[in-house]
Amino acid sequence: MTTGIWILGDQLHPQQTALATHWHNRHRVSVIFIESLEYAQQRPYHQQKLIFIWSAMRHFAAELRQQGWSVSYFPAAACFFDPLSHWIEENQISEIWMMAPSDRSFAEAIYQFPLPCKIIFTENNNFLWSREEFTQWQKGGKRWLMEDFYRQGRRKFQILMASDRPVGGTWNLDKENRRPPKKGESLQTPTPLRFIPDEITQSVIEQVKHLPFPTYGWAEPFGWGVTREQALQVRDRFVREILPTFGPYQDAMVTGEPTMWHSLLSVYLNIGLLQPLEVIRAAEEAYYERDLPLNSVEGFIRQILGWREYMQGIYQTWNRDFATMNWFQHTHPLPDFFWDSQKTEMNCLREVLQQVEKTGYAHHIQRLMVLANFALIAGCSPQEVKNWFHAAFIDAYDWVMQTNVMGMGLFADGGAIASKPYAASANYINKMSDYCRGCQYNPKKRIGEDACPFNYLYWNFLERHQEKLRSLHRMGMVLKNLHRMSESERVAIRQQAAEFLS
Ligand code: FAD
Ligand code: SF4
Repeated sequence: MTTGIWILGDQLHPQQTALATHWHNRHRVSVIFIESLEYAQQRPYHQQKLIFIWSAMRHFAAELRQQGWSVSYFPAAACFFDPLSHWIEENQISEIWMMAPSDRSFAEAIYQFPLPCKIIFTENNNFLWSREEFTQWQKGGKRWLMEDFYRQGRRKFQILMASDRPVGGTWNLDKENRRPPKKGESLQTPTPLRFIPDEITQSVIEQVKHLPFPTYGWAEPFGWGVTREQALQVRDRFVREILPTFGPYQDAMVTGEPTMWHSLLSVYLNIGLLQPLEVIRAAEEAYYERDLPLNSVEGFIRQILGWREYMQGIYQTWNRDFATMNWFQHTHPLPDFFWDSQKTEMNCLREVLQQVEKTGYAHHIQRLMVLANFALIAGCSPQEVKNWFHAAFIDAYDWVMQTNVMGMGLFADGGAIASKPYAASANYINKMSDYCRGCQYNPKKRIGEDACPFNYLYWNFLERHQEKLRSLHRMGMVLKNLHRMSESERVAIRQQAAEFLS
């Protein structure tokens, strides 16, 4: 019996469970990596995403070879199946071990491959909570609120706890973390750590630039880390220099400041170059050792221990098909400008989209309150929006698309994740960013030639869906405002929204 291990591009931690299980036997185990061009063509992925994953895989394969594993690497393979069959035959593999894929449909697809050997999945340790543990937590309560789950996580892993009480006496300091950027205020934001591409990355950049199928975004400048060592440097630099001020401006957006005080760690966490607990513990340690502000440390830890784990748990245990959900029955095509930022005059969208084209990254509020908010109130097809996010973002994977884009961003799940849709007019963007100052539209106007499209699309969204929205608790006040509007204004809004969308 010969054992083989198949490693996917988002499973690049040395302690990932398939490798850890066979560590002592590593000289007798054959490991395979496959770069599938068929998979890469599923959607027009951001060039930096392909470069990042393929370069990180090649670096990780080289590290495993140095540790004594026997590695077969198939670059630019047409698909997964042919190299797998070849490897199985050549190495007489009778059992393939792999860490369970975090993508549910990919995991199912693997079982359908007609392979002449057994496939054994091990627990996925890119996350702290296993599927079974999350299910147990769900069984223990009537409501599945993220906040309850997060508190349970604090207790379970003893993070920022003083015995059974939260350190500082409060679980959640979010209220202190919503400071808007003030006019005239100059914010001293940190510069993100970037890396010069080495020979391996350079060769992947050249390969990706010349792929014979459509891709998105810029290949260069490419500055992402592609090894565990570099990912650890990003974490350590964040904890040392950025975490102390992570909190206050967490929701703010500023022109020319793509990252603000955000960590950029999703990029590394999501492919396993970092594991969640080693990031959380580093932040917690810094809190005790350097007396950092609790609002920043708690706010950051909540993102990973709370939101990230919660989204993954919901994705893994949800027994309906997220992918086909469409609560509002939205079918409008995604506007072309999502693929080309120069095609819109809306400054907020152009700024954020340009940033995504250049880097594959935007921070949470840019994703939620600019991009997804626009797609929601414009009535765009959730499936098209999800595909765009999945293609465009360097940290996008199925588990995070279904929950964050379909659920939190578009409310396509009818409220499984969020208690009400994150729909907002220009008022929110004007308050939390400086984008409106450089825009040809007027954020204060609902109708008229220079009225901001976020305004008439927002009110039109509320009007179109008022029956459905009435069933949600927290929508009463805004619906009242809708009904205070004159009939003539509502007609004008309807017309302007229809004109914009056509
Ligand atoms: P920070 O602000 O520094 O936060 C720290 C960490 O918390 C992140 O690295 C991430 O691991 C975790 N985190 C925070 N919120 C979430 C969340 N809601 N879900 C999962 N993890 C979270 N996250 C992705 O990892 N990949 C995506 O493709 C992605 N797409 C999104 C699309 C939409 C429409 C929305 C609303 C959210 C999306 N998120 C996604 C969640 C969140 O926006 C990103 O995790 C975060 O912006 C990543 O940047 P950062 O590492 O600088 O985050
Ligand atoms: Fe965006 Fe409207 Fe503000 Fe322009 S005015 S930046 S379109 S919210």
